[in-house]
This record gives sequence, C-alpha cells and structure tokens, in this order.
Amino acid sequence: MSALLGIFGGTFDPVHNAHLRVALDIAEAGRLEELRLIPCHIPPHKATPSVDARQRMALLRLAVRDEPLFRVDDRELRRDGPSYTADTLRSLRAEFPDRHLCLLIGTDSFHGLPGWSRWRELAEHAHLVVMQRPNHGVEMPGELEQWLQGRQARGWDELHRQAAGLVLFQQVAQLEISATDLRERAARGGSLRYLVPDAVWEHIRTNGLYR
Ligand code: ATP
Repeated sequence: MSALLGIFGGTFDPVHNAHLRVALDIAEAGRLEELRLIPCHIPPHKATPSVDARQRMALLRLAVRDEPLFRVDDRELRRDGPSYTADTLRSLRAEFPDRHLCLLIGTDSFHGLPGWSRWRELAEHAHLVVMQRPNHGVEMPGELEQWLQGRQARGWDELHRQAAGLVLFQQVAQLEISATDLRERAARGGSLRYLVPDAVWEHIRTNGLYR
C-alpha cells in the first residue's frame, strides 16, 4: 500500500464550498495522505479568468487554512504559457517518485478530456477520480468510453496498490454551486456568503473582486 497524493486542479475563479466539500469527500473516501489544490495560471480550455492568478491563489490559501489535509500548490503559476495538466502531473511525478497520484476531476471536465492536450498521458502519471456533478447531462464521448475499457477501478484499494492508470467513479456531495454563478451574483452586487468560506467572501468584498 502506497501513500496517495490527491491533485485537484481548476481555475478556482473563485474557489467555492462545492470544490472544498467534494475534495474532502475524496480525501476521506480514499484515505489520502494529502490533497493539493493547484490553481491554473492560463487555462487552455476557458476564457481568461476575471481575477488574476495571484488573487485566485490568495483566495485558495484563505479557503484551506483550517484544513490540515489540504495544501495549495503554485507550480502552474511558476510556468509561462497555458497550464497543461499533462505538464503538471509530469512535474509532480518527478518530485514524488514513490507516491501514487490521483487527479480529481468533475464529470463536466472529464467528459471534455479528449479536448485536452496530451490527455492520454495523464493516466501514465496518475489515477483519475471522477466526481459526479449535479445536473450534468452531457454524454460521455465515444472516444473516452473506449479509452475507459479495462481501466475502471472498483475501489480505492486498487488505487493504493497500483501507481497510476486507473479511473475510479466516486460519489461526492451533490452541491449545485458553480464559479460562473458566483461571478454573476457578485457582478450584480449580490452576496456570496455561505457559498464560499467566510474568509474568501471577506477578501472578495474588501478588495472589490468580481464587481
Ligand atoms: P466555472 O463555473 O467558472 O466553469 P467551476 O465552478 O466549474 O468554474 P473550476 O475551477 O473550473 O470551477 O473547477 C475545477 C474542478 O472542480 C473541475 O474538475 C470541476 O468539474 C470541479 N467542480 C467544480 N464545481 C463542482 C461541483 N459543484 N461538484 C463537483 N465538482 C465540481
């Protein structure tokens, strides 16, 4: 049995309670040694974030400061150009040769995987743990379904035994919160209280972010 390191990448524009709760569900279910939240610098598949990477990172740091299992990792901010997950996993693999890595990914992002740069390479470095997102009706592309054949794990024990290459579908809390909705609320002058950690809302409010 090897220690499992969780990797949760995202735009986190801003980080919200659903990100944090589903990450904790995974950390508990998989008995993860640590879970790293990695904000992207320049997202390859999304519009430029409305708040720069340093501010999104500051929000993340405030969000996780009371959770010892979570750690914010700034490696994508230290790279220029688009933040490709394949490069991120490659650098984590080099830094932690003895750990098993698992990449957390929501169903919406998972179904978009065939559009990612060098996506097949991800499973060379890590396992993928797919989290069901509420009201996500998009079908799995045929290419992905084919790729999944023979890779699906039945439980966490398999991820602890094998270093990388498996896909596990894990039930998580169903929280219908999205960063898009939060940005729209803030732009209308609305409150984000109870949708993000109090310290995150305080920082957004006092710095006039997302107005
Ligand atoms: P946006 O609305 O701007 O697209 P988002 O809320 O989807 O943002 P991201 O930072 O893009 O947040 O998401 C990072 C990861 O978290 C992705 O894998 C995404 O699928 C997952 N995720 C985001 N919200 C949820 C949620 N409510 N439940 C489960 N997974 C989620």
